[in-house]
Amino acid sequence: MAWRCSGKTNEELITNLFKNGLIKSPTVKSAMSKVGFLHFSLLFEVLAVLRLRSSLQVDRAHFCPSPNYAYEDSPQSIGYAATISAPHMHASACESLLPFLKHGAKVLDIGSGSGYLTAVLAELVCSKEGGKVVGLEHIKALRDLGESNMLKSQEGRRLVEDGRVSFVVGDGRLGWRDEGGEEWDAIHVGAAAVTLHSEIIEQLKRPGR
Ligand code: SAH
Repeated sequence: MAWRCSGKTNEELITNLFKNGLIKSPTVKSAMSKVGFLHFSLLFEVLAVLRLRSSLQVDRAHFCPSPNYAYEDSPQSIGYAATISAPHMHASACESLLPFLKHGAKVLDIGSGSGYLTAVLAELVCSKEGGKVVGLEHIKALRDLGESNMLKSQEGRRLVEDGRVSFVVGDGRLGWRDEGGEEWDAIHVGAAAVTLHSEIIEQLKRPGR
């Protein structure tokens, strides 16, 4: 399936994933598609602005070490025995969390690695009214990588600078308490876990996922 879903551009990659049913939600498609809104009419853009949506729309090339492979539906090494997951995995994670990814929601991304999924999650929940995503990594160099990748786009820079997106170092098994200690609407665990850690569950809102 990977060969049918890859592309030469971010737009082609996301369009092929959608065509082949690996992305099902138009909302997730738009968040992952750098040029997503350009497919819609001017009216749609005006409506998007009126809804005070951010227009981050994430380009996977900003998060992949090799631009040559950025638009392939496959994982890529990012060093430290970690990978940026395949785009269809990111789409699947977003789609399963989607009912809890409303504008203004607070999301914790455990094992943020390249920062790509953190950025897509930010696209889904951050608007001018709020929303917050924290990328949590146990390797400092990867925490820094996620942040520096995010800073490659103007919109990503804005989100980091105003604190709606942040990258922190810590052990994901303990989750992360944000200042204020408010619970998370959604927690994505991108790092393999042998058991379910109760600290993480305690930090999740009810309902939450
Ligand atoms: N979702 C990311 C990375 C997936 S790889 C991306 O697509 O880019 C899994 C990541 O989890 C790695 O970056 C690894 O360093 C991190 N990780 C593994 N165990 C962890 C732990 N206990 N706490 C925090 N991060 C962890």
